[in-house]
Amino acid sequence: MAETFRALVLDQQDKSISASFKTLSMDDLPDGDVLVRVNWSTLNYKDGMILNGLGRLVRTYPHVPGVDFSGQVVSSNDDRYKPADEVILTGWRVGEAHWGGYGQMARVKADWLVPLPDGLDGAQAMAIGTAGFTSMLAVMALEEQGVSPDQDGEVLVTGAAGGVGSVAVSILAALGYRVAASTGREETHAYLRDLGATTIIDRNELTDTSRPLLTERWVGAIDSVGSTTLAHVLSEMKYHGVVSACGLAGGPDLPATVIPFLLRGVKLIGIDSVMCPYETRLRAWERLARELPKDHLSAATTKVSLSDILPWGEKILKGQVKGRLLVDVQ
Ligand code: NDP
Repeated sequence: MAETFRALVLDQQDKSISASFKTLSMDDLPDGDVLVRVNWSTLNYKDGMILNGLGRLVRTYPHVPGVDFSGQVVSSNDDRYKPADEVILTGWRVGEAHWGGYGQMARVKADWLVPLPDGLDGAQAMAIGTAGFTSMLAVMALEEQGVSPDQDGEVLVTGAAGGVGSVAVSILAALGYRVAASTGREETHAYLRDLGATTIIDRNELTDTSRPLLTERWVGAIDSVGSTTLAHVLSEMKYHGVVSACGLAGGPDLPATVIPFLLRGVKLIGIDSVMCPYETRLRAWERLARELPKDHLSAATTKVSLSDILPWGEKILKGQVKGRLLVDVQ
């Protein structure tokens, strides 16, 4: 095993954040039970924020970002893992409060890992990453609240050409739902249809919040945008419709009324992937391995090298990334 490894390190000087590639030693790594050779990571919206020093997500520098990784166990002080086991890590504030996946080695708590499920390799797991894992949690929440493909109506996905949205469209279509995909980018329409969307909606049609109830349209919705988009979607839900709220790409506010909840029994379910309990994680990953079509996953994935990550971090904040970014760390 090499004694040193390469990592992207964020430093803070005064109030500005700088990023540089450094050679680190094993002694530099934080404490933890399991040492992992990181093969793949991803770029999520949150990584974009962290790379650009936004949101006060990172409080201690120097810091190695990267909220997800997959790799191979090198050594373990925990009975659940042994050398050469393939593992995945998403969430638990890794890459944020703890060093993450943008280094070739990571040392983490065993509790934060899940074994790579049968049916996925490490690169596919990271093509899914936190964004795709969140999409599956959002689909599972719709199902738990009674939404099913037999119902008369479509499930809406907002921010559809982004990471969470793309995987959500693909899973829902594979499960037999009729999927309406909302996007602001015309150039992604063919891509979204290839993932299984049956209807494409211009995202500008989903921002009017002047009336609390509009014509009933959706049996379910997966929203990664928030703000006026989520408020508008609530007003268009069918009777007993269910919305999984995943994100805030359009803003953290919610300028809505309670009327859709009171008059249509609409349900708004919050989705959190970060502190999600272990058993639910296993279930979600097993379902992703079985139910997410692999050809759709590769169509939704752009592979980039860790050396090229910084400009992509700026692009994702501007909503310019299509689908998922897989990061080759080695
Ligand atoms: P992406 O940037 O890949 O996707 C976000 C998409 O939202 C964009 O592609 C764009 O879709 C749309 N969008 C961006 N800006 C705006 C805007 N101003 N108004 C309307 N739509 C907009 O990010 P991710 O998919 O990685 O993450 C999406 C959101 O989900 C983020 O807010 C992220 O923080 C959150 N998230 C939450 C998690 C959780 O545990 N709850 C886990 C993972 C992510 P299009 O071009 O199609 O219009």
